[in-house]
Amino acid sequence: LQEELAKLRELPAETLDKHRVELAANIGTPKDVKGALDNGAEGIGLYRTEFLYMDRDNLPTEDEQFEAYKAVAEAMEEKPVIIRTLDIGGDKRLPYIDFPEELNPFLGWRAIRMCLDRPEIIKTQLRAILRASSYGKLRIMYPMVSNISEVRRANAILEEAKKELEREGISFDREIEVGIMVEIPAAAVAADILAKEVDFFSIGTNDLIQYTLAVDRMNENIAHLYQPLHPAILRLIKNVIEASHTNGIWTGMCGEMAGDVNAAPILLGLGLDEFSMSAVSIPRVKKIIRSLTLKQAKKIADKALNMESPEDIEEYMKDIVNQIL
Ligand code: PEP
Ligand code: MG
Repeated sequence: LQEELAKLRELPAETLDKHRVELAANIGTPKDVKGALDNGAEGIGLYRTEFLYMDRDNLPTEDEQFEAYKAVAEAMEEKPVIIRTLDIGGDKRLPYIDFPEELNPFLGWRAIRMCLDRPEIIKTQLRAILRASSYGKLRIMYPMVSNISEVRRANAILEEAKKELEREGISFDREIEVGIMVEIPAAAVAADILAKEVDFFSIGTNDLIQYTLAVDRMNENIAHLYQPLHPAILRLIKNVIEASHTNGIWTGMCGEMAGDVNAAPILLGLGLDEFSMSAVSIPRVKKIIRSLTLKQAKKIADKALNMESPEDIEEYMKDIVNQIL
């Protein structure tokens, strides 16, 4: 099987009836690009920029960030790279940002919420991304969005950054796409509203599952309740993809679920456009996609979405996937 999977590297992620999807990789630093390309990634679906800000005692400068984003843009050679703006807070704090003491940091001052209160932080990052956008195909993604005004306020800062660069005579991609992570249940439920404001969605299942099921993603005592194939999760995903397509935009997924072979036929059948995962998972997910027709995948999704318990869905999916892998 390993040999067969290696051979898939150059082949497209398309179903037997030629429905094409994009398989991308999640990265944390420019060094991860090689592994992504080695495994056949067609893009970077999530560049977690937190590492640039961690293990230091001051904010990274615009130039430092620019160099990192440019390195990724160039190494990917025009393949799309989604750069997520700073997603800090929750358990990850920075010594040089004054985080308040909170009872529930995961429901607290973090990610886009923090950035909108400290606009100079995200403005610097957006300037760095824009400058790097001249060296490849970059996209911008905001994390932890829960309502439309956050998107509008972040985009207003983006417009300011663009105007500044224009005045300074610095070139950037004027058509740069802007998307949001759908990882808070409110965003998934109200996806039709948010779809009118952005160019794409990327479903962050790690947090979406945690918040929807009220199951801390790190808590071992309740790990058995952390169920990606829960009917509630599948319905939310379906709603997000449908809302995006109705509004003429596309939906990717960058949580762990995107690399889960047992979920792949369902996600494919629901119409997910891009799957972004840790690079090593790409070959197996590609194998699943290339072994089904879209029609079969739709039938599987339909059947799974009509089941009552996560356990039944898991069992059903394992049977299907075991016949392929
Ligand atoms: C997610 O929440 O699914 C996600 C991809 O983001 P992170 O794991 O960085 O929270
Ligand atoms: Mg998240």
